Amino acid sequence: MAETLSLPGFVNAHSHAFQRALRGRTEGGDFWGWRDDMLELAASLTTDQVRKGYVQVYGEMLGAGYTVVGEFHYLGLAEAHAAADAAAEAGIELVLLLAAYGRGGIERFRQHSVADYLLQLEELRAAGVRVGVAPHSVRACPRDWLEELGRYAAAEGLPLHVHADEQAREIEECLAEHGLRPLELLAETGCLGPSTTVVHATHADAHELDLLADAGARVCLCPTTEANLGDGFAPVQELCERGVGICIGSDSNVRIDPLEELRELEGIARRRAGRRNVVSVSSLLCFGADEGAAALGLERWPDVEVDLEHPSLAGVEPEDVHAALIFGSSAGVFA
Ligand SMILES: [Zn+2]
Repeated sequence: MAETLSLPGFVNAHSHAFQRALRGRTEGGDFWGWRDDMLELAASLTTDQVRKGYVQVYGEMLGAGYTVVGEFHYLGLAEAHAAADAAAEAGIELVLLLAAYGRGGIERFRQHSVADYLLQLEELRAAGVRVGVAPHSVRACPRDWLEELGRYAAAEGLPLHVHADEQAREIEECLAEHGLRPLELLAETGCLGPSTTVVHATHADAHELDLLADAGARVCLCPTTEANLGDGFAPVQELCERGVGICIGSDSNVRIDPLEELRELEGIARRRAGRRNVVSVSSLLCFGADEGAAALGLERWPDVEVDLEHPSLAGVEPEDVHAALIFGSSAGVFA
């Protein structure tokens, strides 16, 4: 029996499992070109394909050290049930972050009204699915949707997840429509609170970062996806200086490896700061596990086992294992 070390399982706080099928297939276009390919795939998927495909993707996540996934889902209600069934079959804990999508995208993403959305959410809850409220973005949700969703999530004590500030164009459009930047709009509409997780925040300015800190909200960073899509550099140091909690997500699933997300996160911070050790190893491990669980409203979640006899840990002293995991190992190190 190989020697192992137990760690709190990694928490994948932001996944779109269906996008795993795009791996290796979309190089050549910009973000919006990638989005067109993604929409075409999303439009074509059947419920059965979702169920079968997600079992595989969730299996890959478990093998990579993630024991929980927050599935940010916008493919429809039957497919939400299929995602929950797939997670149960694969053996991963799932929180279904059901996306509210009022406009744009493609037809299957959209609900007719907030009331329709809440009916879908209630149906999932009644079926025993753990859920979160997820206005897709300020692009996809008009102001009155945001107001109602913020109210509902607070009243029900549910986590609220929302994409924001990933691309400069989204900010320009939000300024044109509302005279506010995305996180300013989320704050004004009651969507920014201690149970909120903002996904990306790549281009958040100083005022928006202050709003996050004032609200006690978290940010979910998805460095491998943000790199692949050319989003920009996450403001890691600025978030840490303000005490904003950070968690991680595999997002587009172009890569599924929590250690790589954390290494990349610290790598971004070091390159931008021009120094080493911006975030401590223990904080990085906390971002990878505890903060993600808190973002999904979980108090307990399964551990993961590290194979201490893995070649990437050969010659590493016991007290250095955590640092060697973050800086010198990939997901294959998990037993
Ligand atoms: Zn996303």
